[in-house]
Order: sequence, then structure tokens, then C-alpha cells
Amino acid sequence: MGSVALNPDRPGEVKSFPALRAEMVKRHIAARGVRDELVLEAMGKVPRELFLPAKLREFAYEDSPLPIAGEQTISQPYIVAFMAEALMLKGGEKVLEIGAGSGYAAAVLSEIAADVYTVERLGPLAEEAAATLTELGYDNVHVLHGDGTKGWPEHAPYDAIVVAAGGPQVPEALKEQLKIGGRLVIPVGADQRTQELVRVVRLSKDEFRSEDIADVRFVPLIGEEGWAAAKGETAPARRALRPVAPDEETLVRNIADAAESFPSIEAADLSPLMERIGSARVVLLGEATHGTSEFYRMRERITRDLIVKKGFRFVAIEADWPDAARVDHYVRHFQYPPSEWTAFARFPTWMWRNTEVRDFVSWLRKHNGTVENTTRVAFHGLDLYSLYDSIRSVLNYLDEVDPASARVARERYGCLTPWQRDPATYGHAALTGSYPTCESDVAHALTDLLAKRRAYAEHDGERFLDAEQNARLVANAERYYRIMYYGSRASWNLRDSHMFDTLKNLLAFHGPDSKAVVWAHNSHVGNAAATEMVARGEHNIGQHCRKAFGAQAYLVGFGTHSGTVAAASDWGGPMEVKTVRPSLPNSYERLCHATGLPRFMLGLRGPGDLCGPEGLGRERLERAIGVIYRPETELASHYFQASLPQQFDEYIWFDDTRAVTPLETAEIAGLPDMYPFGV
Ligand code: SAH
Repeated sequence: MGSVALNPDRPGEVKSFPALRAEMVKRHIAARGVRDELVLEAMGKVPRELFLPAKLREFAYEDSPLPIAGEQTISQPYIVAFMAEALMLKGGEKVLEIGAGSGYAAAVLSEIAADVYTVERLGPLAEEAAATLTELGYDNVHVLHGDGTKGWPEHAPYDAIVVAAGGPQVPEALKEQLKIGGRLVIPVGADQRTQELVRVVRLSKDEFRSEDIADVRFVPLIGEEGWAAAKGETAPARRALRPVAPDEETLVRNIADAAESFPSIEAADLSPLMERIGSARVVLLGEATHGTSEFYRMRERITRDLIVKKGFRFVAIEADWPDAARVDHYVRHFQYPPSEWTAFARFPTWMWRNTEVRDFVSWLRKHNGTVENTTRVAFHGLDLYSLYDSIRSVLNYLDEVDPASARVARERYGCLTPWQRDPATYGHAALTGSYPTCESDVAHALTDLLAKRRAYAEHDGERFLDAEQNARLVANAERYYRIMYYGSRASWNLRDSHMFDTLKNLLAFHGPDSKAVVWAHNSHVGNAAATEMVARGEHNIGQHCRKAFGAQAYLVGFGTHSGTVAAASDWGGPMEVKTVRPSLPNSYERLCHATGLPRFMLGLRGPGDLCGPEGLGRERLERAIGVIYRPETELASHYFQASLPQQFDEYIWFDDTRAVTPLETAEIAGLPDMYPFGV
């Protein structure tokens, strides 16, 4: 920072703000007994001068409170540090502050905590604080204009709450919004201008321990559970402030107005969404990452409703056919013995082997136990990476129903056997001519099988479908591995065409009235024609569905601002729980974040200003996190241009999200043998 100030101790000497700040931390804060390293470090970082009106900046590092607008004060640095220490933060917490004032104390807390929610009752102060915090890049501070004595329940419970104004008692709402074990620090006094600083610790749901820790003087806490406001003053409206570019403020308000906010995944009212879905034949549920718990759990809730209320017949996921077939066998209570392999045992295992998916699978099995055999809901995989498992499946099937044909098929598939360990090397060898391609072998294996459809299907339609899908998969995967070397477009398109063909095949198999739910990444589910994929010549399953089913395909995208995600750093690497960076300016995510709503559903088919070219229709950045997340190169590797209302029919927002929980081997060991996720 280039800014300088006169040194108040030695007139004439010019010192930089950082130097003055360091000196203040040493002389006024550490020397007076604040020991907490995290607090001292935070105090040393935040440029207090930038939270002050310009004419007062030179006094920023004198340890005193200073006037800010609205007859309020920015607290004395020592007091800010003392209160921060009293909150006993370890790092990573969720903290609520009442009395944002200039935003300075919130910035200090945000250097330690993961998120700081701060409430200010005076509108102009709240606006100013939000603007300063945004400008300085404090993306983890969230400002609400409202009466802080009611807290900020939408984000509760909090690890710590700090009140920067003195009230006659401890507001009940704040005690309620404290986590068990959480600390609340608040000035309390019978007099409006002098108080005891009190620390309240929540011991259990109903037990609180309270101690006095200092004598203090704060401005009054004015509100429903504080002192009365001056006569004629109206209570502040509750409005979260997350400044975006001024020309986008109206759009943010329009999003907030149209959004259907919901309190939790469990308690969400899905009836408006179900109405919008109407009689759609395919509902595609996306996700903005491959490792976010909220996306899985919300998809489960919606899928359950689609099954129970609208009679959806099967769920098809972005996973390999044979793996999903193991789950299908389990959830539909099939009588014949299951295939022996473990589902979802290959990288990226956490994508389907997680507690969220396990819970859905358990529900589906239970549900299917209560309905007729013929209406049991199926579970299928659309993807094509399981070349060798699929070969094995076809051969196992033929061994059982037609050993002579099995011998021929074994011969044909033998072409691919040398490449078992790494099918990609097959593609390379075939392409360079150092090995013959197996194209016609795998194609013949498929046509042989299809030619006997009638005879085989008599045995058992389901099992024939399984063999047929595996044989199709092998044929497409063989091509996939060969064309991988031409570049990503051809292989991407082949993969999405395979997924779409599989979906169509399944709809045909399950009958003319059958309806399907698809779970796949936003990048497969959202119409590619509305994204920069179109410029690369890529299409996807969402686009195919739009073309084939028109409005009878309902495309749902999901998004998030920040939190954690399960992802790897490199292909084949171990799963890590990574921090999702706050979304970038000029992105759809930033607009949704600016609404201040923690979670909502937003129908995008409605006409009007919201979805038009002046509104959400104008192209913006959108984030996609796959099995790999590289925050260091986020803009280049994870953002693309899109027009959201053309891409999706619905957008579901979770501002703050958490990584999925992978299934631990120990948990799996205790499960019944038939369980598809076996060790
Ligand atoms: N933490 C601030 C200091 C704020 S002074 C800083 O670092 O600058 C206390 C602030 O509490 C004032 O801005 C006052 O307007 C605000 N306030 C008083 N009663 C309030 C209430 N019920 N809800 C929210 N803010 C309140």
C-alpha cells in the first residue's frame, strides 16, 4: 500500500500505514495483554484507515474510537482485539456480529473465521460497510441491513456472536442462534452509555453460563430486544447487501423476488417445482461439481417426489452401466445372483461411493419393496468407461444362455485383451497402426447379440437389456479410446451421444409412457447450445434431449458460491476436501450470491425481464468443477461463458456448500453381502 501518514508522535516524520499498524498492534494491543496470535495477526493485516472517512485517516492507528456516519463510532482497536480474543476463535468458524458500523471489526474477524455475518441497523452505514468490504476483497463478510437484536437466523447457528453496541439485556434471539459450545460476547447495562462486557457460553440446548469480563462504553443497541428507537423512527427493513456492479443491482433484486427461497433440503416445498415440471418425460438434474453434498441430497429429494408423485420409472446417472447395474440389482430386489464386482471402485470413487448416494439407494430399495414387481424403479448408468467390466458382463451372460456364442464373442473381444490395464494405450496403438483396430470385432459382437434378441429376451428381458447395453458400451468405448487422440471434442461428443442413446434405449425398454430422471454434471445436462461449448463444436445430453423432447425435457442446473468440495488435483489422484473459492465478479454465481439468500429454486422459463437479454439472458461466466479442481487457475480452467435461461429450465442455488462424505471401507464391511458398494 502506498499510503502514508504523518507520525503523530514525531511531527514532520512520515510513516507508512503498515508501519503504524504494526506499531499499534505492539504498543496498544499486545502490550495491554491480548495474547491470541490469531487476533494479533488479524489486527496487523486489516487496513483500518480504509474504513474511516478520508479526513480521519491519519488518526487510524491512534488507539481510540473515532466518529463515523450516523453519530456512530468505529470501535477502539484494543476493544476490537479484546472482544475478538474473548470469542476464543481457532479459525474456520461462522461468526455473527451485531453492529457492523464501518465494517472494520467484521474485517478483523473475517481474517480468522471462515465467514462473518454482520448486521447494521442504519441503512447508509450498512451500505458503506458492504461497499468497503467488497472493495477490499473481504468476500467472506456478509452484511445485512436490519435489526441485529433478532440475529440473522437464516445462517444460524453460529460458533461465536459478538455485539458492538450495549443493550439492557442479552437478546433471546442471539442465545438461540448460538451453537452448543458457542460464545456470545455482548455489552450489557441498565444505563444506555455504560456496560459490563459479558461472555455467555452455551452449555446445552437450555443451559448458558455467563461471566463479566470488562467494564466498557458502547453506543446503545437499539431494536426489538434492545433499547427503544427514537419516536417516529421505523424499524429497518431486512435486506442483505452484497454490492455488485451498480447496473446489476436491479437484476439481483429481480432474482431475489422471483426466487423461491427454502429453509433446508428436507423442509423445501417442492410443489411449485413439480408444477413447473408438469408432465415432462425426462427431468435432468445437474450439479456444478462432482463432490458437493447439497447437490446430491437435493437431487434425491426431487427424485423421490418425481417417483412417488409422478410415477417416474427409472433413474439414470453419469456412471458406467455395469456399476449402476449392481445397484439396480439391489434396489429392484432381483432374485438371480448379482455380478461379483464392486460398484464404483474406480477413480473417481467418491463421485458415487458416498454416504449421500448410499442413503438414496437405501430409500429406493425400501420404496421398491412396497410396490408391485413391475413398477419397481430402476437405476441405470449412462457412461462408457467400463470397457472390460462390460466385456466380462456380456461373456458371463452368453456363458449362461448360449455357450457356443460365448466362444465366438470371447474370440472377438480377445482383440482388446492385451490393453486391459490401460485402455488408452490401445487407442494410441491402434491409431499409430502398430496394432490392428478392434472396431469390426466389437461391432460384430454387438450385431451377433442383437440378431438373437428375440430368442434371448424370452429368457429374461432385463438380463438381455443388461447384456445388450454392455455390448453397445464396448463398441462405443472402443471408438472412444481411439478417437480420444483426435482431441477432446470428438470423444466428448461420442460420450454424450452414447449417454443419450442409452437413455433413449431405456425409455423404449421401460415402455412408451415411461419417464426418466437423469443425474449428471451441469456440463452434460445444460443445453450446450447456450454455452461456449457450441463454439467448440461440442454437444451434450441436455441438448439432445431438448431437440428430441422439446418442452417435455426439464433441465435443472445447480450452483454454489463457496464452501468445500471433494475433488482431486490430478486425474487418478486421491480425493481431497478442497475449499471452493468465492465466485468471481461477472458470474451468475456472484449474482445469486448477491441476493443474500442461502438457498433457492428459480424457474427460468418465465418470460419477462428476468430472463431476457437485459437480465439473466445476457451471457456471463459460470463455474464448473469436475472430478478435478484447481483453484489456482480457476478462471481459465473452471469458468466458461453461458446464457443461463437458455441453458436450463430451472436453477437451484446453495450459497454455501460442503464436500460429499466418501464411504469408508469399515462402514461397507458391516453391510449385507448383496450390498452393491461391497468392499
Ligand atoms: N463494529 C463497528 C463498530 C460499530 S458501533 C466497527 O468496527 O466500526 C455500533 C453499531 O451498532 C452502530 O453502527 C449502530 O448503528 C449499530 N447498532 C445499534 N443497534 C443495532 C441493532 N439493533 N442492530 C444492528 N446494529 C445496531
